[in-house]
Amino acid sequence: MCNDLKHSFNKIIEGNNNWMEFVKNDTSGRFEQLSKEQHPEILWIGCADSRVPANEITGTKPGEVFVHRNIANVCVHSDMNMLSVLDYAVNVLKVKHIIVAGHYGCGGVAASLSRNQFGIIENWLCHIKDVYRLRAAEIGAIEDLECKTDRLVELNVEEQVFNLCTTSIVQNAWKNNQPLAVHGMVINIASGELINQNCTFTSKESLGKVFAYK
Ligand code: ZN
Repeated sequence: MCNDLKHSFNKIIEGNNNWMEFVKNDTSGRFEQLSKEQHPEILWIGCADSRVPANEITGTKPGEVFVHRNIANVCVHSDMNMLSVLDYAVNVLKVKHIIVAGHYGCGGVAASLSRNQFGIIENWLCHIKDVYRLRAAEIGAIEDLECKTDRLVELNVEEQVFNLCTTSIVQNAWKNNQPLAVHGMVINIASGELINQNCTFTSKESLGKVFAYK
């Protein structure tokens, strides 16, 4: 390995040595317990961006948040990875809250507003273009590109929350009276704030006839 590669890889090993030291010095027994089981109450679906780590932003510890991340926190019904995470979180872990967390300045959302080709990723970003299409009048009226992107970040979160609520996984949990809330939030990286978008669903009632299963 060249020196540059060695340097960045060693940083991870050193970091892990520090973490092992921290775990060794912890006398609460929680790591011993965590090695056997997990009971997280939250499923976090966030962006893969390196600046938005779920635990740090929510002040939670290992074992408290079940995490799925992808580019621009997209939840589509054909994504087996997301559906498997959702099914496991809802039906096995019985999480109480699902949080879709977008973030201002999201590169994926910004790219979706462009007419450039980006290779294979543009097929994924097209799901965000679909959100744009639904709200084109509102977003089109915003002139500043940064503001346009940030508004689409918020609308994308709302749409992905809706997509989760239209899965049979979430609706069957509600049907079985399992307490489950699906929230949309947006992270301001500069201030660290996690901003509630007030688009929470706790039942199928407001989904509309076509989307709410019998
Ligand atoms: Zn992002």
